[in-house]
Amino acid sequence: MIRSYTVIDLQARCAALGHNPGPIDGDRGRRTNLAARAAMTERQVSSEALLFHTSGLHRIYLHWTAGARGVIHLEKKAYNGLVDHDCKRHLGKWSFEDQASYRAGVRGASGTLNSNTGCIQLAADAMAGAVEVPFNPGSAPMTWEQVDELCLWSAELSLAFDIPVSRHSILSHAEIQSTLGIRQRFKWDICWLPDMSRPGDPIECGDRLRDIIADKVEVLAFKQAA
Ligand SMILES: [Zn+2]
Repeated sequence: MIRSYTVIDLQARCAALGHNPGPIDGDRGRRTNLAARAAMTERQVSSEALLFHTSGLHRIYLHWTAGARGVIHLEKKAYNGLVDHDCKRHLGKWSFEDQASYRAGVRGASGTLNSNTGCIQLAADAMAGAVEVPFNPGSAPMTWEQVDELCLWSAELSLAFDIPVSRHSILSHAEIQSTLGIRQRFKWDICWLPDMSRPGDPIECGDRLRDIIADKVEVLAFKQAA
């Protein structure tokens, strides 16, 4: 069973499972209670903790590292998984499961500000020297091949840990502040995709990523069932 979750985690989990808790604000009100109850009924579980996967993992955050070619030690501490410029996967210092018992400076990847517990941190190793405005993709722009591999990895993790492909459970770093209300420091990963002339709306970019991930989940689930 999940060890610890916040009201925001519960609200986000309900939203991800299709039960609207009202605003994701960390305030436990009537709508949060109703959404939790509806989700428990639908999932046929007897406690809110059982709405979460037994691993304790419930969200995936997508990043770019702002790094150059070559995965470095610092990046392996910040992310559980990295996709390099040749689309090769690298595991970070900490396993996905370690995020469930994250402790700052002690255990787990720290890719996000105040939102690492229960959250898988995945990154494309790209965008060294990139500037948001005026836009300059820098010396190592993220490629479609990297995006595709990042999405495939997300799809696999979505199935492995029962993390729905939704705005509240698989999101880019740039979406965290507006969707979950957890302040980040001016993060713009991933507000730009390789076919864009400049960075765009974080949620629109996130929706495009989720569309790709959802397609891959469908294919993987079909293969698993066959
Ligand atoms: Zn990030």
